[in-house]
Amino acid sequence: MNPFPSYNSFAESALSGRYITNRHIESLLPSYNTTEVGKSEQQHPIYRIDWGTGHIKLLMWSQMHGNESTTTKALFDLLRYLSTHSAWSSKIQLRILPILNPDGAQLYTRVNANGIDLNRDAIDLSQAESRVLRSEFDDFSPDYAFNLHDQRSLFGVNGRPATVSLLAPSYDKSCRFNKTRTKAAALASAIHHHLQPFLRNQMGRFDDDFNPNCVGDAFQSAGVPTLLIEAGHYQEDYNREKTREYIFYAYLAAIEEIVSAKPNDLKGYHAIPENEKIFFDILLKNVKYYENSVEKVGDIGINYQEKLSTDKVVFKPVFAAAGDLKKWRGHKVPFCDNLMPINFQIEESAQKVLNMLKF
Ligand SMILES: [Zn+2]
Repeated sequence: MNPFPSYNSFAESALSGRYITNRHIESLLPSYNTTEVGKSEQQHPIYRIDWGTGHIKLLMWSQMHGNESTTTKALFDLLRYLSTHSAWSSKIQLRILPILNPDGAQLYTRVNANGIDLNRDAIDLSQAESRVLRSEFDDFSPDYAFNLHDQRSLFGVNGRPATVSLLAPSYDKSCRFNKTRTKAAALASAIHHHLQPFLRNQMGRFDDDFNPNCVGDAFQSAGVPTLLIEAGHYQEDYNREKTREYIFYAYLAAIEEIVSAKPNDLKGYHAIPENEKIFFDILLKNVKYYENSVEKVGDIGINYQEKLSTDKVVFKPVFAAAGDLKKWRGHKVPFCDNLMPINFQIEESAQKVLNMLKF
């Protein structure tokens, strides 16, 4: 795994940006062993791609949250890589559901068409998409499961953006490590180790509160090592193309760990720092502002809201918080201190304020 293969020669150029739907992947599917395994609540197809004939079975699903497409893009990069690197095909068997929530993908929402968060539906299985995933899980009986997501840009680690976050979810309330969870933790540890030279201090570990309604927790409880991978923010990369590259490397690192059958090392997992909510997209420091007609001096946090606009995701700045935000950081911190106070009503649009700052 060292050095990593040249990423650009494998990246799937047909996919880019944040808006990825069935329509975007359908032209790619004929290149792979694809099966339609079910329909969404709005009767859109849910596809599965199979690769490899080995004895170790890996189930991977992406876009269970419809607007979380980075891991999907990286899955197609992985498939392109595998089509020219067949060494693993006799060792592993991949079963991939690239877009589990095609309705949410189309609407660019986290939830499905009925407003249900599929990652809180593991017990009820109230939605068609949840039932498709569960039946694939039961039918395939994987040795490893990969639950693939995007996280918001507010997550950081070591004061830097958390570009890749990892979690071996708990299998019960004790949050202890049994054999199953230890195997999943070893994958996280391997990814962290392999990506360190490239992504130093930008990888985090999620908190492991047990929630049996979450699919990862449910699968871990069922005895299948399950790893959550969250694609996050990388500097200036709102389209998550750089992050996508790191996720691709993460997949390779995990697969290599699986086929090399190394002893499981929990220490490496605990060494991954916990991520925290510490970022605004833009942080204005020491500005004068008015809240309910009262003049105040403090910091203003602005976040981008993602909106779908004619098949593209646009980023609209909105006020998120005001006051003493010293503990917070900004992906961008434009210069504006008390020497050059900015006066604006807090109700005014964030975009107007950014225009004032010529930002
Ligand atoms: Zn998610």
